[in-house]
Amino acid sequence: MNRDSALERRGRLTARLAKLAAAGHLAPLARQVGSLGGCARPIRMTGHRTRLDSATGQILDHLDTRHLPAGELLLRCGNRRATRCPSCSNVYRYDTYQLIAAGLRGGKTVPTSVSTHPRVFATLTAPGFGPVHNQPGATSCVCGARHGDSDPLLGTPLNPQRYDYTGAVLWNAPALWARFTTHLRREIAHAAGLTQRTLRHHATLSYAKVAEYQKRGQIHFHTIIRIDGPTGPASTPPAWATTDLLDHAVRAAAKRTRVQHQRPSGARETDGVQASESRVFRFGRQIDVRAIRSTDFTGDGPVTDRHVAAYIAKYATKGAETTTGTLDRRLRFLAELAQHDLTDHARQMIHTAWQLGTQLQHAHLRLRQWAHMLGFRGHFSTRTRHYSTTLTQLRAERTAWRTRQDDPQERTDQGQPVTDQHSDRSDLTAGHTDPDAGHRSGHRAGSRQRGQQTPPW
Ligand SMILES: [Zn+2]
Ligand SMILES: [Zn+2]
Repeated sequence: MNRDSALERRGRLTARLAKLAAAGHLAPLARQVGSLGGCARPIRMTGHRTRLDSATGQILDHLDTRHLPAGELLLRCGNRRATRCPSCSNVYRYDTYQLIAAGLRGGKTVPTSVSTHPRVFATLTAPGFGPVHNQPGATSCVCGARHGDSDPLLGTPLNPQRYDYTGAVLWNAPALWARFTTHLRREIAHAAGLTQRTLRHHATLSYAKVAEYQKRGQIHFHTIIRIDGPTGPASTPPAWATTDLLDHAVRAAAKRTRVQHQRPSGARETDGVQASESRVFRFGRQIDVRAIRSTDFTGDGPVTDRHVAAYIAKYATKGAETTTGTLDRRLRFLAELAQHDLTDHARQMIHTAWQLGTQLQHAHLRLRQWAHMLGFRGHFSTRTRHYSTTLTQLRAERTAWRTRQDDPQERTDQGQPVTDQHSDRSDLTAGHTDPDAGHRSGHRAGSRQRGQQTPPW
């Protein structure tokens, strides 16, 4: 039955393509679709747009999507998740690499002197919430088996009944990172003999970080931390700012970082725990801090800027779904889980987040909204303002490059971004090829239109 309908669909498609080819429409259509650079879920827009010269009121161009070969304007979706759109996530990974690398060696809008500033690459891990199946070097797992790299059991609890799912989800949720950066400033100020308040007159702290999901569903933070002078990357750091000082401060701050959470209400009476008693969350004991060098080193010593940039860029396009086998989109109802092919462990993590989300003391964590991310909310790739250039800047550069390369007709067809001397009147409505696109569908259609029509490089 399914096979028949697939054949029928293919037959109808071939007939339609033949008709388009006969009418001479196939080549323009192929050009329009080709300009998407392989985006798997393009945003489709219908309507019209007029560009005017704001000084003279002269019409520069008018775009009516009905006259485009596809009958609609097609824009790259710009999704950074590799599972959602391989092509757009490649662009995002490339941009992230450029951003991270510029913060280490300079380039783009960052002065090259930044490469002499003290910086480290640190990994902050999560603690354990119960024993899980693993690959302990040359020996076998506690369960007696030797798990292969692709074994779905890896990272899942040895005893799911006794695994601390509540702790596992709540650990992902709290603001440990934000607390860590506060402690880090304090540690650095202390080591320099300054107060936190006066530190900013001497130095600024920049970082770029990415959250990596472990198979067990916990996140680890990989981060580049750099000390600049008082005004950011263009200013010279003070003499006391050394890699050693930064290394010690990161370790000390990670050890001090803790966040408290109220216990889930169900646990109170039965466990004889007071309502006011809270649970403390902190980073795992394993903290890795390394100096970042500009030239190649091998072994366990310092890592290179190239290596670090590639590492961060790689994880910037992977959500929980890649390693943990959870969902890459938000859940609206818990019942939706039944339709998905998930591991029991991922299902239980999502279930726990969903249940905790109903409890008043966890309302601020918005756990239902972030259940598919196993409790972790926000972006898995972030930077401070001074770290490097911005994605917007990189995209503008690419668009400008493309504008110089393309022929004018192509540009008009695809609707290039408007510049300052033009005004833009548009009445475009966004649709999406993906009916299940989740909360980001149609989101900020205007800015996508300007910022994300990017070639796949
Ligand atoms: Zn895409
Ligand atoms: Zn095992």
